[in-house]
Amino acid sequence: MPHSPLRLVLEGEALVANWRWCDARSGDAACGAAVKADGYGLGAAEVVRRLRAAGCRDFFVATWAEAAALAREAEGASLCVLHGPAEQDMAEAVAAPARPVLNSAEQVRRWRQAAPERPCDVMIDTGIGRLGLSPEEARSGLLDGLPIDTLMSHLACADEDSPANPRQRDLFAELAAAIPARRRSLANSAGLCLGRRYAFDLTRPGLAVYGGVPRREAEGHVRQVARVEAQAVQVKEVPAGAGIGYNATWHAPERCRLAILNIGYADGYLRGFSSRGRARFEGAALPVVGRVSMDLTAIRCDAAPGLREGDWVEIDYALPEASAQSGLSQYELLTTLGGRHARSWR
Ligand SMILES: *Cc1c(COP(=O)(O)O)cnc(C)c1O
Repeated sequence: MPHSPLRLVLEGEALVANWRWCDARSGDAACGAAVKADGYGLGAAEVVRRLRAAGCRDFFVATWAEAAALAREAEGASLCVLHGPAEQDMAEAVAAPARPVLNSAEQVRRWRQAAPERPCDVMIDTGIGRLGLSPEEARSGLLDGLPIDTLMSHLACADEDSPANPRQRDLFAELAAAIPARRRSLANSAGLCLGRRYAFDLTRPGLAVYGGVPRREAEGHVRQVARVEAQAVQVKEVPAGAGIGYNATWHAPERCRLAILNIGYADGYLRGFSSRGRARFEGAALPVVGRVSMDLTAIRCDAAPGLREGDWVEIDYALPEASAQSGLSQYELLTTLGGRHARSWR
């Protein structure tokens, strides 16, 4: 295989430790894991394999294609398709071992017609205004007799101290008391930081498992999972006044040394890091200078005189800090990591 000049170094132990922290925060509730969007960009198959070995039994994807791609890794575990079955998914959905989340009256009717005996999950919209039955629909008798495995809802503002959180929680508890289901599930990563009252029977963290810090309660507990490393294509000196990168948004204040790294916005290192990001080599912090371009990023490396062409440099990608540097959310930072990275688990 040709050599890849950029790589994601993935810490399996940190992934598992993060999931265990979420599990402990969930109290008596079981703790699952959201592995949609290819495990938030890190590789869903590897994530599922590692979390299953740690004891995780519930996985969540967005689409049937994502479920099909995980058929082997998730065999024997619970795999749940959050977007539910569209008309075109029905053949796949009734044959697949994964369970649908029914989100609308139409999806409920469709599922009842095709597979009335098969367990399903049901999403109620208690205030996020995204997917789910309205509380009125949920109470209307529409769900009578349906074999519901997990009744769920999703918090809109769990990463803030918002009155919407207890409001959604109480409404969900009230609906869950009236609608028979094997389990009840409300909390994502931020939600399980809010306390046991939010955990019900099953939690569904994603971000925190992958090293994101959704709220201050997770600070110091959640560890970085994905490290981004890129090779220096060229190391050079430029004279004082030289303009660096497209549109010369940065000028060398004096003669300085630059390393041009093999990473750019096509690799998910987006332009928000232009003149704001940082890289590290042998302990020295090296600032990004000028615009990030499609495949290349310049860093100033006077502080690392030992840095040579071909050396590997670590890009600062601890999610809370990288989010502050770039203006991107921690979710975007993970899911934009592109396909050119070699992934190496350790
Ligand atoms: C993505 C998603 C999650 C996971 O959310 P995080 O904020 O990443 O923990 C949980 N539940 C649903 C319905 C989701 O769509």
